[in-house]
Amino acid sequence: MRKLLAWPVVFALLFSAAAAFAKTNITNKYRTGMIPRFVKYVQIDSMSDVNAEWMTPGQEKMAQALYEEIKAFGFPTYFSKDKYIYVNIPSNLKNRRTPVLGLSAHYDTTPDIIGVGIKPRVIKNYDGKPIVLKNGHVIDFNSDPYLRNMIGKTVVTSDGTTNLGADDKAGVTILVTLLQTLAENPKLPHGPIQVVITPNEDVGRSAERLELEYYHPDYAFDFDGGVDGEALIGNFSADRIVVTAQGVNGHQSYAAENGYRNSVKPIADLIAKVVPAQSLPNNSTGTQGYIEPRELRSDLQNNTTSAAFHLRYFNPEDGKRYLRDIKQKADSLSDALDVRIKVEIIKQYENVEYGVKPEALDLLKKAMEDAGVTPNPKKERAGTTSAMIMAKYGFGGYTIFTGQNNPHAFTEWLSEEDMFRAYQTALNLVKYTAQMSISDK
Ligand SMILES: [Zn+2]
Repeated sequence: MRKLLAWPVVFALLFSAAAAFAKTNITNKYRTGMIPRFVKYVQIDSMSDVNAEWMTPGQEKMAQALYEEIKAFGFPTYFSKDKYIYVNIPSNLKNRRTPVLGLSAHYDTTPDIIGVGIKPRVIKNYDGKPIVLKNGHVIDFNSDPYLRNMIGKTVVTSDGTTNLGADDKAGVTILVTLLQTLAENPKLPHGPIQVVITPNEDVGRSAERLELEYYHPDYAFDFDGGVDGEALIGNFSADRIVVTAQGVNGHQSYAAENGYRNSVKPIADLIAKVVPAQSLPNNSTGTQGYIEPRELRSDLQNNTTSAAFHLRYFNPEDGKRYLRDIKQKADSLSDALDVRIKVEIIKQYENVEYGVKPEALDLLKKAMEDAGVTPNPKKERAGTTSAMIMAKYGFGGYTIFTGQNNPHAFTEWLSEEDMFRAYQTALNLVKYTAQMSISDK
């Protein structure tokens, strides 16, 4: 396994490398292939399923098709038994070591809305009028102000009876087109690159069976974001704390003698003590955290009562404070009421900021600006694939725009231009990581 953050990293501008990219007007050449590739992918049904043990047959078919296509590029490609597709491209730089660039996307589509039998509609030279789909669905400037920017450009929608699956077939299209570009232009200078295309993102399981042997980069970028320039560079840390009080059975009438203890009271008191009204989700914005009692369960037979608290925060100190508060108050209630109380901590996802190298944002900004994209870094009050990887494996990454709009809806649509610019951004990430160098200490 590779060690992370072990080397000092410096940017070293190498003009020869930059020139090779600048001279070749290669990105336009690959642009025309992106829509046909995208259309081909969305026509393969690959919904994930929360109730599936792991894979759905649709995802399996999609994975197989992708693997065949990617393998043909000739790079070392690994198709895991859990249907992750990994490509590990060795560096083609002589006498120099550069950081490992990691790029990811997911090939499943959401189970929240029907994604079977998708009939994509490619609208070229969009005229600005409302786009009327079947079943009364309409995409227009009222519902989607960003669509205004697409006049004269290419937009893809479904026919209205399904979603489109641009989440995340757009990301997959970007990465496969990038691999094709690198395969057909072997002189483009690049360092080691790791690509992974995962299943089960939309059921929150994309990091679950990831194999670090094939994906553990120094800089990770997940192509699963929305509009031009968007980069999610931070997110909530998320913990689920389950507190369970164990009462003692016996008849209440003789409780003073027989040791009967009630399990509801300590949990009710605990909620009242640790969740002041001002810390509820509806009273928290920006980078403020919150603590929310999410579930209450009582089991009369076993005389247990439990509450699950969701802790959400950007500042790790907030998380520590919430947890300390719960533990201390649970302890004192346990003493006061003479009831056993257990506190369990489940990490759900983690803020990627803690596991991203400081120069990653500079690298991304350069890559975007060089593609004519204005970077729009933001922090999300939610989790991402990168956040799940961060929680499980301790390395973070940014989530980059792909051109997908209005995901998980009949009115989902794709901006061809944004998808292309995301591809250019990806190629620039290759270019700029190849200009960095690492020296062993
Ligand atoms: Zn997605």
